[in-house]
Order: sequence, then C-alpha cells, then structure tokens
Amino acid sequence: MKRESVPVYSLPMPHVIERAPSGRAKCRGCGEKIASGGLRFGEQLPNPYADGDNALMTHWFHPVCAAYRRPEALLEGLAETAETIESRATLEREAALGIAHRRLPRVSTADRAPTGRASCRACKTLIAKNSWRIALVFYEDGRFVASGFIHATCVKDYIETTDIRARVKHFSPALSDADLDVVLSVVGDGL
Ligand SMILES: [Zn+2]
Ligand SMILES: [Zn+2]
Repeated sequence: MKRESVPVYSLPMPHVIERAPSGRAKCRGCGEKIASGGLRFGEQLPNPYADGDNALMTHWFHPVCAAYRRPEALLEGLAETAETIESRATLEREAALGIAHRRLPRVSTADRAPTGRASCRACKTLIAKNSWRIALVFYEDGRFVASGFIHATCVKDYIETTDIRARVKHFSPALSDADLDVVLSVVGDGL
C-alpha cells in the first residue's frame, strides 16, 4: 500500500561516490564486500518502506560493477562527483555501452552448460551440454535476479553487441584468459 504513495522524482537522485569508511558494505552488483578506503558508488532510490516523502535508501556498488549493471545511475553520479576517479574514462565507456545496448547490463557470467536441459532465452532452443552459455540477470526492485541463459552464439543477435569481454571476465573471476578467448571467439562468430 505504501508503494503507491512514493513520490515521482523528476530530478536525478543525489547519488554518492565516496571512499568506503569501513569494509562492511556488500556490492549489489557482484555480492562481494567493498574494501575499506576503496571507492564506492551509492545509488539513491526512493525507500518504499520508510515514512516521509523524501525517504531514500542507498544501494552500494563497486564503481565498475555499477558501470556494468546500473549505467545510467553511475553516469549521473560521475557527472556530479568531486572525487578524483582514476578509472573514470573506463567507467564512462562501459556505462555508455550499457546504455547504447539496453540488454547489455543483463550479461553476467559465462560457463559451460552442465546439462542439456535449459533453453536459450534468445532463440528458445536447448543449450547443448558442455557448450558455452552466458547467464543473464534481471534488475527488479533493486535486486538482480537470475533470469536464465543464452547460447554464446546468440549474444550478437540478442545483446546487439559482442563487446562483452570485460564484463564477463569481471563477473566470472574463475574463468581463465584462455577460456575467455574461446568464449569470445564463439560470441564473435555468432551463427
Ligand atoms: Zn561489485
Ligand atoms: Zn540461442
């Protein structure tokens, strides 16, 4: 019921970019802790559970995770911050890519299908056991929800870009560079 009384904001939220004062907060994008003293991005959202018209809640991210998963919000934060951000150009480039290709922020990890039972969200056919697949996430109510897989070969058609290497590497830290090369060759070829 309270959700209906949340005001509609016409101005960008006052997002935050700052040094983390402790190492306790977890990143919404990757689930890992944000190191004390490291840069963190706080996306400000209306808080539907708090009283008061202007109640906000903050969702914390590593800046790079926000570039991949919350590109519009991060660019708003980068435009306003007075912090010196060494990786600014990379963050802006990755965020711009995610805005230009609206499904790109849904790209998560890469792995080989452990069974042949799941269907591809793009082409709706089965993903063969042991073939490379890309996991997708869907952003809903401030959370990233697992939302199935696509064939690596379907990236070009579905995501509308093959420029996924940096984000797949970031969200699949266990993937070797050699494996990543294989994934990207499959993605690049398409079908
Ligand atoms: Zn993160
Ligand atoms: Zn497919």
